[in-house]
Amino acid sequence: MNAPATTELPVVVIGAGPVGLAAAAHLIDQGVEPLVLEAGQAAGAAVREWSHVRLFSTWGEVIDPAAEKLLAPTGWTRPDPAAYPSGGDWAESYLRPLADVLGDRVRLDTTVTGVSRTGRDRIVDAGREQQPFVVHVAHADGREERLFARAVIDASGTWATPSPAGGSGLAALGERAAADRITYRVPDLRDPAVRARFAGRRTAVIGSGASAFTALAYLADLAESDDGSGTKGVWILRRGISGSTFGGGTADQLPARGALGLAAKAAVDEGHADAVTGFRTEAIERDTDGRLVLAGEDGRRLDPVDEVIVLTGFRPDLSFLGELRLGLDERLQAPVALAPLIDPNQHSCGTVYPHGHRELSHPEQGVYLVGMKAYGRAPTFLAMTGYEQVRSVAAAIAGDLASADRVELTLPETGVCGGAGLFDAPDTQQAGDGGGCCAPAPRLVQLGAPAAAGAATDQAPAGGCCGS
Ligand SMILES: Cc1cc2nc3c(=O)[nH]c(=O)nc-3n(C[C@H](O)[C@H](O)[C@H](O)COP(=O)(O)OP(=O)(O)OC[C@H]3O[C@@H](n4cnc5c(N)ncnc54)[C@H](O)[C@@H]3O)c2cc1C
Repeated sequence: MNAPATTELPVVVIGAGPVGLAAAAHLIDQGVEPLVLEAGQAAGAAVREWSHVRLFSTWGEVIDPAAEKLLAPTGWTRPDPAAYPSGGDWAESYLRPLADVLGDRVRLDTTVTGVSRTGRDRIVDAGREQQPFVVHVAHADGREERLFARAVIDASGTWATPSPAGGSGLAALGERAAADRITYRVPDLRDPAVRARFAGRRTAVIGSGASAFTALAYLADLAESDDGSGTKGVWILRRGISGSTFGGGTADQLPARGALGLAAKAAVDEGHADAVTGFRTEAIERDTDGRLVLAGEDGRRLDPVDEVIVLTGFRPDLSFLGELRLGLDERLQAPVALAPLIDPNQHSCGTVYPHGHRELSHPEQGVYLVGMKAYGRAPTFLAMTGYEQVRSVAAAIAGDLASADRVELTLPETGVCGGAGLFDAPDTQQAGDGGGCCAPAPRLVQLGAPAAAGAATDQAPAGGCCGS
């Protein structure tokens, strides 16, 4: 079957997460037809896997303007912009209604397995850019299908490809064999079966981003609860502890994000977690009782733990993009023009400059990686960044270059400045100095009831992303 004329074709958007659905809304705003392909059974399938986690952004910071424009006429009620949604709220009160209003432009249970130029593999130049894209998908019932597209926006995120425990970026020896006691997610301690796994037990938490802060705060809450006495965290850090280890705290312009680091610090200060620094996990072994022993590259072997929570970040799945000519940075696996703006070796204070279609372009015209996936392995992605990315990309695809180039976004600073620096060097950065000023005092936000900024604490909101 010959491919239809390119101009008649939709723009395929891979992933019905917050950024993929926003891309569809902006394309419609530009008069371009989108087709959103989602592997999961519902919109926001990845977000739903952390539905128990509260965001550190308020509703006002995670609703896309073009999406809101589509939702408004449907009688949709805009949540309180100052309240903090959980992942579950975000999925149910925003992403599902948005997918509903997009109707059959969103296909669920549809996994993209490959993208290429019709009749042209990666090598072939001849007539390449005149050819539409061909997108192979697998449906949940096993059927396969070929779809055609005039452009492709990959908003498939990185949730499905978490980084391993190994200090070298590889799975540690024995890590796979110990999978029954290792999780790569912030545990949902409201689930009795999950709670039983951690209550009164010793758990290693590997990682140093917002999700690791959250896991430590959750374990500390458990330790202080009636059924959790004896719960203990062991916080595994590849670097030493310094002022910026716990994030920007009061200097973070996202108070709930700042509160995460302070919650982790409190967990350590109050003895609910011991920090082990400069430790790079090389192997995970089982002792005679079946408990896990983490062995470090420096020969250290830690006391046995019952569980391990690995929160060392995410990385992009590029497997289905192999036939395309992508320009990706060798460190971050992010678009080469974007990478220097988000490189954690250089940046941590949220000084990610506004970027749009130009920074997200590749040698292959008409392909864009956006959202969490655009950041590759870099942390600190925020939904509002993704919304600005897709506004610009949609305008570029529609040919409205003036609007595409007018990228406007001011990101809240983390309050910690300077790059990650060298692993073993004592960290010079100090939280709160030179970082964001005038941030309101961070407070932990209560889970369950939508809470406005400043409400008292229960389970800490998590971070994501930041990457990690
Ligand atoms: C625990 C956590 C807390 C966070 N908190 C915040 C916060 O407070 N504020 C903030 O701004 N950001 C936060 N983030 C970061 C970020 O905003 C979210 O990760 C957001 O969900 C990213 O949106 P996305 O659309 O890029 O990717 P995702 O939400 O990951 O969506 C990608 C979608 O693509 C689908 N998909 C994947 N592969 C395929 C395929 N091959 N074919 C078809 N579909 C596919 C997935 O099922 C998924 O639904 C957080 C992240 C995490 C993990």
